[in-house]
Formats: sequence, C-alpha cells, structure tokens
Amino acid sequence: MTSELTDPLQETDPQVRAALDDERARQESTLGMIASENHVSEAVLEAQGSVLTNKYAEGYPGSRYYGGCEYADEVERLAIERATELWGAEHVNVQPHSGTQANMAVYFAALDPGDRILSLNLTHGGHLSHGHHVNFSGQLYEVEQYDVDPDSGYIDYEGLRRMTEEFEPDVIVSGFSAYPREVDFERVQAAADDVGAFHLADIAHITGLVAAGVHASPVGVADFVTGSTHKTVRAGRGGIIMTEEEHADAVDTAVFPGGQGGPLMHNVAGKAVGFKEALQPAFVDYAEQVVSNAKTLAGVLRERGFSLVSGGTDTHLVLVDLRDSHPALTGADAEAALDEVGVVVNKNTVPGETRSPFVTSGVRIGTPGITTRGFGESETERLAELVADVLDAPDDEATIDRVGEEVDALCADYPVYGGA
Ligand SMILES: *Cc1c(COP(=O)(O)O)cnc(C)c1O
Repeated sequence: MTSELTDPLQETDPQVRAALDDERARQESTLGMIASENHVSEAVLEAQGSVLTNKYAEGYPGSRYYGGCEYADEVERLAIERATELWGAEHVNVQPHSGTQANMAVYFAALDPGDRILSLNLTHGGHLSHGHHVNFSGQLYEVEQYDVDPDSGYIDYEGLRRMTEEFEPDVIVSGFSAYPREVDFERVQAAADDVGAFHLADIAHITGLVAAGVHASPVGVADFVTGSTHKTVRAGRGGIIMTEEEHADAVDTAVFPGGQGGPLMHNVAGKAVGFKEALQPAFVDYAEQVVSNAKTLAGVLRERGFSLVSGGTDTHLVLVDLRDSHPALTGADAEAALDEVGVVVNKNTVPGETRSPFVTSGVRIGTPGITTRGFGESETERLAELVADVLDAPDDEATIDRVGEEVDALCADYPVYGGA
C-alpha cells in the first residue's frame, strides 16, 4: 500500500494514463476554437495537480472548520489579493467550483425562491444557469427572457427596459455565452435601477478581456459580478464572484455553507497562479491579440460570404449564421466537417433559431486557444480561409485532406506545450 502511494500513474492505472496522454496529444494536434476553452500554463497544471486536493478547508482564510489550514489560507489569500487587483473589486470570493456555482451563490444571496429573474434567451446567447427550465435556476425562480434585436443581432436594450417595467424582476442578468459584441453594463444597470432590481453581470466568457481592460468592466456598476477562471483568463477550471462590501457576507455565506462544502483548494491554487500570470503586462497583449484575431477571423468569413450574427465581433468569438449562405448546412454538419480537419468548434443556436439545439443553424468560433498558441493576424487569416474552404465543401475529400494537412502544419508550428 505504501508503495502504491508513490507509484507513477503509468504503473497503477495505465488506462487512465493513456487517456490523459491521448487528450494532451489531441490538444496539440488540433486547433481548439471552442470559445469557452483555453490552455493553461504548466505552472497552473502543477498547482491544480498538487497535494491541496487532500485538504479540507471549509470556511474562509483565518476562519476554518478544520485544523492544518495555514497553507490553504496562504494560497486563498494570494488568489483573493490578486483577483482584487485584477478586477478592482471590493470583495472577491474565489471558492465557486464553477461559473454555474458562482451564479447559484449570487441567486442565494440576492433572491428568495419564487423571486423573478430577467435574463437573455438561451437561443440568443444566454446560459443555462440564467433561468433555463432544465437548470435549478429555472426551477426555483420565475423567469422571463429578453432578446437580441433580430435585425442587428445586438442586445435589444429598449426591449429589456420595457420588459423590466412590465415584469418587475428582482434581478436582471447580463453577460452571455454566445454574444460577440461588447455589453453595455451601464444600460442594463439603468434598467435595474428603474425597478430597484439587482444586476448580476455574468462575465464568464470575458473574464480575461475585462481584466485586461479590452472590454468594459461591470465591476463597480453591477451589484454582483460572476466569472469563470478557465475561459479568457487562464487560471484553471472554476468560478469567481466579485461584489461590493455591503454584499460580501451574503455572498460568502451563500457559497459556503449555502451551496458548496469544502473548497477545491487545488483549484484555488490554480486560480492564484493564473491570476498572477494575468497581472503581467504580457497578458494585456494576449487579450488584445485575442480580440484582434477574432476580428480578423470575422473579416475573412464575411469576405467569403458568410453571415455573422451582429455582422462581426468586439470580443473573442464570432457566431456564424449559416442560414443565408449555406442553407442546407446545419451547425452540427459544420462542427463535424471542421472536426475532421482538426478544427474544434461547437454548433450553436442563432437568434430566431428554427432547428433543435442538437442540430442548430450556427457555429461559434473563438480565438482564446489559438492566441495562447501564438497565432497572430497572418496565421488567423490563413486559418479562417481554411475554415471557409471546409464549410464551402464539407463533403469534398480533396479539400478535407488538403486542409487537414495544413492544420497539422499549423499545430506543429504553434505547439501548446510542445514535447511528446
Ligand atoms: C461558461 C459560462 C458559465 C460557467 O459555466 P460552468 O461550466 O459552470 O463553469 C456561466 N455563465 C456563462 C454566461 C457562461 O458562458
């Protein structure tokens, strides 16, 4: 038994070892363009794979329910300190296991069961945790949804304001999963102020863009801000909550003991390390490049005749609406064809969607991952042409073979971690 504690994974469990090696090889040999994914540093991986996974630390630094928390305290204090600096928040909670758990804690802090949530329609770019009926948020609360303007693809802020007056929500949720444009948090706040509702800004997708100052920040505007730590900020899987001092106790209590037990301290360590990386000046360059690559991608796709929801992007993603240019091609077909050449994206509903969420009429394509690999405009332009080639001829074997080889070459030239 003692030796089993120190034996390498290769010996104790070659099946899991092989799957992990295969996953690493998959990430190296394909271009991850799922807008919500990224690649963390080896340093973040090391922190996440650390002995902190052994430690119970229910409570908060300096006030835990278990002994032996001095190093857990140190790690969590560092994560909090760095997050406070990155986003300029008065109070930060770094314990949410995920973005959904962060939203749950805010609802627990701000609402009673049966209270009203106003949020963006899921098929227009919202998130399950914003009140979808299959999610706890749709089961515990009464939910109404606002839309994007069907013509412009931008949030219909006037409609949002009208619905706010009619529905009198207790909380308005802004922040989205598949919205390519900058969010006007001030306008959402103004609507919330009209009826005395709370405003939850869920910046899960743009946490890193906000940290770097390339997207407007809701911190200091909205009552509650939630984020993810694994999308545009490369700090490993998890969630985060930022709020003003007046809501600090309510939020902390809602996270623990309200919605979670012991924090995943190894992930809190990953957050601390990733936040330190994001505080370096190079991170601003990274975030600017992410947006600039997304604009390049949008430009090429537009030139090649594709319709983009809202016509383009201000952020890290583009949402292609295939209905005009490729009416017979579904989002699922497009995802599968791109998968064949090693470009990994996801099918996505588009505003006014008529197909099922398993089929869809759109694809969402993001640039955080390729930018981490070192892609600049010229590589992104090349890749965008390849994406268009595949979507124009998804069944043409010669195209698939040629593009597959070009993607292989790009992967080799721009490794994630390198090595085997
Ligand atoms: C990704 C995302 C989340 C977080 O999701 P988890 O998978 O629970 O971490 C929350 N809100 C939005 C808008 C998102 O896009």
